[in-house]
Amino acid sequence: MSLIQPYTASEELGHYIAGRRVAGTSGRGQAVYNPASGAVARQLALASAQEVAAAVASARAAFADWADTPPIRRARVLNKFLQLVNENRDTLAAMITAEHGKVFSDAQGEVSRGIDIIEFACGVPQLLKGDYTDQVSTGIDNWTLRQPLGVVAGITPFNFPCMVPCWMFPMAIAAGNTFVLKPSERDPSPALFMAELFTQAGLPDGVFNVVQGDKLAVDALLEHPDVKAISFVGSTPIAHYIHERGSHFGKRVQALGGAKNHMVVMPDADIEQAVDALIGAAYGSAGERCMAISVAVLVGDVADKIVPLLAERARALKIGNGMAADAEMGPIVTREARDRIENYIAIGIEEGASLVVDGRGHQVAGCEAGFFTGGTLFDHVTPAMRIYKEEIFGPVLACVRARDFGEALQLVNDHEFGNGVACFTSDGGIAREFARRVQVGMVGINVPIPVPMAWHGFGGWKKSLFGDMHAYGEEGVRFYTKQKSVMQRWAGSIAKGAEFAMPTAK
Ligand code: NAD
Repeated sequence: MSLIQPYTASEELGHYIAGRRVAGTSGRGQAVYNPASGAVARQLALASAQEVAAAVASARAAFADWADTPPIRRARVLNKFLQLVNENRDTLAAMITAEHGKVFSDAQGEVSRGIDIIEFACGVPQLLKGDYTDQVSTGIDNWTLRQPLGVVAGITPFNFPCMVPCWMFPMAIAAGNTFVLKPSERDPSPALFMAELFTQAGLPDGVFNVVQGDKLAVDALLEHPDVKAISFVGSTPIAHYIHERGSHFGKRVQALGGAKNHMVVMPDADIEQAVDALIGAAYGSAGERCMAISVAVLVGDVADKIVPLLAERARALKIGNGMAADAEMGPIVTREARDRIENYIAIGIEEGASLVVDGRGHQVAGCEAGFFTGGTLFDHVTPAMRIYKEEIFGPVLACVRARDFGEALQLVNDHEFGNGVACFTSDGGIAREFARRVQVGMVGINVPIPVPMAWHGFGGWKKSLFGDMHAYGEEGVRFYTKQKSVMQRWAGSIAKGAEFAMPTAK
């Protein structure tokens, strides 16, 4: 059982530096809401550049010893952390629901997907095993090894406050780096809680630090000379900024951005299965998933069959406080985000799309001040419309009609985002062609949300990812380490005399 005290409503959430909670000193702060009730849940401190520097200094001080700790011993600490996260999975899930709003079962799923990555990181001795070639020339051997970078930082979005940080810090730390995490200011508790669990697992002080903050803290991390790499997940404009700024300061950067994920439904698809998939993927987590389906591309005569079924299901969604056992969809994270989504619905009407189900102004009994909106369904959406082009990040599904497979594929490939995509069909040839030709990083065939497993790595294409390495999996190992090649020769085999020609195998 965890010994960690839960955070109370009256307490201001601060940072986690050098193995302990640290109160904010900047004098800056903001409220964190419970989106279901609309009430302020707690206050959050926002870090100054000096507080960020203190976290980086703590990580830097811890680096040499941690990097020198044998990987098998680092893995043992991770194993203990894994055990503690498992013991506290429902506590973490409840924290997520309280600050994000997603339904509890979905929050439990998020924690499970985070745990998958910790499990992967526990295999670090195997993952760091290098290559060795004996006798590349007479008496000479050559091997490669991967070494940690130093202090690395993670900046994460609100929509997965446990899972997305887990895409980063377990692998980075397992590889011997020390870490500063800047979680979203909208749901900051899970990150802090995980930092405390890691300390309890035996992680040396300073190896994992958390600073709460906004742009000021992010800029301080980008500019700090001791931060060697930045992993970012969030919206595309900020991802682009992070990539440019971080690269300017000579850091290694991976910046995952926004999405507009399409699901193509072919005329030969199982319609019932496609309806289930669209409803879950469009409205699950209130559409606030980077892998949510926000566009249904309905091929041939599919639209006339499927739109009435989607409408019926969207109207019947059970919307409520995420802790209610029967809730299928919770509130939107903030009032501003809810207003932005509802504004997009108004834009869609102005643009001439057919509004089949209007979720605006949805009220939940007992949660009248909560940030709710209902499931919304548009038909006859065209590629010229803003509701097609832009990421809405809410429970709004846009149906686009396409004549045939070629037109559907072209639509997907012409979109500026390329995070996830799905194709529902019963034709293996179409499925194969789709997977090969689509310009998107993560593809589902009859799978609506194809989030890759921990050992496969996650990343989109086009404006959904800046940088060339995906998150977690073996790409994560490469991102958080640098390769070194060593060539050795010992005295007995050293030839006499200087050599002036390029050395070759002898
Ligand atoms: P966001 O871009 O607003 O914020 C992400 C992080 O950046 C937060 O920690 C925030 O504090 C920080 N930030 C915000 N504005 C900043 C600024 N001007 N300068 C520097 N830092 C800033 O994103 P969000 O609203 O928290 O999350 C939703 C977005 O994240 C969506 O666009 C979604 O598609 C995307 N997302 C992408 C993935 C992916 O894997 N591609 C995964 C999850 C979420």
